[in-house]
Amino acid sequence: MPKIVVLSEYCKGCMFCAEACPKKVIGSSGSANAKGYQYAAALNPDDCIGCAICATVCPDAAIEVYK
Ligand code: SF4
Ligand code: SF4
Repeated sequence: MPKIVVLSEYCKGCMFCAEACPKKVIGSSGSANAKGYQYAAALNPDDCIGCAICATVCPDAAIEVYK
């Protein structure tokens, strides 16, 4: 099953990934990283299809996709 890993310390919380994900997998983790940004997380990880759109749109290369 594909999955994503959010590198929380690189994330700036813009949520471009959440808006772009066709399966609505991603949302805010509700937690802040060391820089104070509310980083993204896979809230519905079982719905991920591994399309990597989230990683493509992330301006900070904060998402890795494993297929
Ligand atoms: S790989 Fe595709 S389905 Fe999975 S979280 Fe990213 S955009 Fe969503
Ligand atoms: S697009 Fe990247 S920087 Fe923006 S919320 Fe998603 S993981 Fe974080």
